[in-house]
Formats: sequence, C-alpha cells, structure tokens
Amino acid sequence: MSSDDLDCPVCIEQFAHRRLRYNIACGHIFCLDCLAKISPRLCLMCRKAYSEGDITQAPVASLSGSELALFVLYIILFYFIDAHDGMAAKRISPRV
Ligand SMILES: [Zn+2]
Ligand SMILES: [Zn+2]
Repeated sequence: MSSDDLDCPVCIEQFAHRRLRYNIACGHIFCLDCLAKISPRLCLMCRKAYSEGDITQAPVASLSGSELALFVLYIILFYFIDAHDGMAAKRISPRV
C-alpha cells in the first residue's frame, strides 16, 4: 500500500480517525474539509467534475499495519496506566 492512499493530496495531512476519507466519482480520495473548499467541483487530481451525490465515505478500515499496531499499543498503554493508577490510589488511600 502506498502512502498516497492515506494522505489527502490537498492538505497533505494524514487521515486521522476523526478525519474521514471520501471518494469522489473518479475514485480519487480527499478529506471532507477539502472537498467542501473545492470550487468549482472539479477533482484536483484529474479535473473530472463531480457532484455532491458522488461523494461517498471511503472505508475506514484502511489503516496500514503499522498505524493499526500503534493504535492498539496506545489502547493497551492507556489501559495499563489507568489500572495502575487505580491500584496505587487504593494503596495510598488512608484507612478509616
Ligand atoms: Zn484535505
Ligand atoms: Zn480525480
């Protein structure tokens, strides 16, 4: 998988979880922020016209393997920090 698939060619920001990818009629992918700004409605990559009806959300499950691994790592990390803090708080709390 090339990294081009993960970047919006307009803003060159990597698609994060909250920044969804959208396909237009020609098959090129942009983020919704940039699609809203494009005027007239011509694909910036191939200049093909598209209408709002052509915009479809691209599947979200297209994270690369490394991104997915990082995401899972974060979840595990947060879970352990949370659990550890909970145990520490119980240990420190004074007995009444
Ligand atoms: Zn964009
Ligand atoms: Zn295009």
